[in-house]
Amino acid sequence: EPVAIVCVGMAGSGKTTFMQRINAHLHSKKEPPYVVNLDPAVRNVPFESNIDIRDSVNYKEVMKQYNLGPNGGILTSLNLFATKIDQILTLLEKRTAPPPPPEEGAPPGSVKKQIKNIIVDTPGQIEVFVWSASGDILLGSLASSFPTVIAYIIDTPRSGSTSTFMSNMLYACSILYKTKLPMILVFNKTDVKDASFAKDWMTDFEAFQAALQVEEDGGGMGGADGTGAGFGQGSGYMGSLLHSMSLVLEEFYKHLRVVSVSSMTGDGIDDFFVAVQEKKDEFNRDYKPELERRR
Ligand code: GDP
Ligand code: MG
Repeated sequence: EPVAIVCVGMAGSGKTTFMQRINAHLHSKKEPPYVVNLDPAVRNVPFESNIDIRDSVNYKEVMKQYNLGPNGGILTSLNLFATKIDQILTLLEKRTAPPPPPEEGAPPGSVKKQIKNIIVDTPGQIEVFVWSASGDILLGSLASSFPTVIAYIIDTPRSGSTSTFMSNMLYACSILYKTKLPMILVFNKTDVKDASFAKDWMTDFEAFQAALQVEEDGGGMGGADGTGAGFGQGSGYMGSLLHSMSLVLEEFYKHLRVVSVSSMTGDGIDDFFVAVQEKKDEFNRDYKPELERRR
């Protein structure tokens, strides 16, 4: 049975590069995936897609025709594409079905292997996909046909301060809650910054507290990644807000599988596929019964 891997994440986190990497990885294992691109606004896709939203909707034309800005254009393109979801599913089911037995005398190698992975790239603007009706329809339809796993891609170098880290985790948490699908946190770009700090913060609240203290002592303004101020904890309500959030996140972390990778070098990709297998099993065990109950 194939598994669907849906890559989501903030713009620039490396979704497309990650897709390219796992695609190459699966090809090298002689298990080519089925590749779906749902980003209508992407200029160049560095890998070959089996299904590409750009083949059925022209994002630029949609913007012009409906007089829309970039986000409206992406949303409307997704809406138009979502109306074809039945055709897409039929296609996916056909392509992932076990191949017919080879004809007698067929040369070895001409026999098609069954596709084991469907990999899906999503629009750069994460909110357009996760918080739209068409995103719902596309994800829901996929999950009703295949075990589906969310890969939440994180820009590790840009999550180095406690505040950007916390924001990213809360966003991931809201997506888990919204999609109700098993999730793998993928700390990407580890060739630039190692993700061990993040793993520490996720498993040891005291380590996170200590990092807050360091940012505080460092003057408060400007986190370690230069993307904003740390939270600080001296001031009353921030300290108590932070404490409450950390309790929420502690519960959230328990449901996650965390991997660190570099889409650039290929580091950690094997570990990612181990995580996919685990989450696929979890989907079949815990999520599927729930999905069927809701239907
Ligand atoms: P997307 O908007 O999420 O699809 O992000 P892209 O895949 O387009 O990547 C955004 C930028 O991050 C590009 O300049 C990539 O070259 C870079 N990038 C992606 N993955 C990695 C990585 O593992 N290491 C490094 N150093 N850069 C990366
Ligand atoms: Mg992209």
